[in-house]
Amino acid sequence: MSINLTVQQIFSWTIQLSAQQDYQALTHKFLDILAEIPWLDSAAAYEIYNHEKKKPGEPGTVHELLIRRFPLDFTRNDEEDHNNLLNGLDHTTDLHLGTPDEYGLYAWAIFSIRGGSGPERAIHLEGAFDREMLELLDNLREIYRNLVILHDSKERDVLTKLPNRQSLDARLLQVCEHYSDYQLIDKKEEKSSWIGILDIDHFKRVNDDFGHLYGDEVLLIFSQLMGKCFRYNDFLFRFGGEEFVVILNLASQETAMAAFNRFREAVADYHFPTVGRITVSIGFTHVDGVSMPTTQLDHADKALYYAKDSGRNRVVLYENMPVVQNSEPREIELF
Ligand code: GH3
Ligand code: MG
Ligand code: MG
Repeated sequence: MSINLTVQQIFSWTIQLSAQQDYQALTHKFLDILAEIPWLDSAAAYEIYNHEKKKPGEPGTVHELLIRRFPLDFTRNDEEDHNNLLNGLDHTTDLHLGTPDEYGLYAWAIFSIRGGSGPERAIHLEGAFDREMLELLDNLREIYRNLVILHDSKERDVLTKLPNRQSLDARLLQVCEHYSDYQLIDKKEEKSSWIGILDIDHFKRVNDDFGHLYGDEVLLIFSQLMGKCFRYNDFLFRFGGEEFVVILNLASQETAMAAFNRFREAVADYHFPTVGRITVSIGFTHVDGVSMPTTQLDHADKALYYAKDSGRNRVVLYENMPVVQNSEPREIELF
């Protein structure tokens, strides 16, 4: 077996990778390129969350490692498969390999992608490859990694490291496209997505009373609380200023309401250093495959303003607001 790749081919791949506009497109393209390589059977990308919870010197456990396959598949909840796959990896090396067969061929390899401001990523490869081929893959990995770091710096907020407004627009469009293809509109099922805008109450006072640095600290802790309260398969963003966005996936209306309320309570109960207590108001709406992403954001925003107007520190679902598309008044669900 030989690698059998021309210099032209490698240049072409490099050009294609560097032409991608964002991290999502880059990762799709990288997987497409790997799929073209004849001695690779499959390639999958993962994002790894929370592995820092692992105690030093101990291997990760299923519960401590949270793995999200790229792109997230909304049609199945296969958390365990992925966790088992990457469970027990040594997070200090960049290359993980099975044992070679009698011809010196490896059946699988996992490359770690580290260094960006986002989560650690991993690429899982299956096929039949020797050391020379691995070297080529490692060079490709290096190009991909450098581009991931570049995209992270553009697409993530400097303070909280969460994806920024620009990433939200791309991601929301993707989620909407998924539902327009998939045609699943049963909000009672645990398979819907919901978009919520989270706005810290009276945040101006925090800055006025304690100064911007303490305000920034609150924003950072707030984003960390989001990371702890929401699930690994939800998408979290910093929308701007003291506003954040969550796209909650694989949830019924009831589960979504409970999840946003759980977070609201976690914030209200948290003692922020120096600043003390703060609260958050949340407006959210159902993500469907019909409305424009901007309309859905606008609906979440209207629900947020309703939450602010009705006393703050509460969660409002747009669809439960008194006057919505049809003019019939409905009961409002605040808690
Ligand atoms: P409300 O309950 O109605 O949301 O009141 P609010 O004070 O939170 O809302 P308002 O929009 O009046 O003020 C938001 C403040 O957030 C104003 C601005 O000083 C502050 N802010 C925005 N971005 C940042 C930031 O990056 N760091 C800090 N420290 N403050 C910020
Ligand atoms: Mg605001
Ligand atoms: Mg505010």
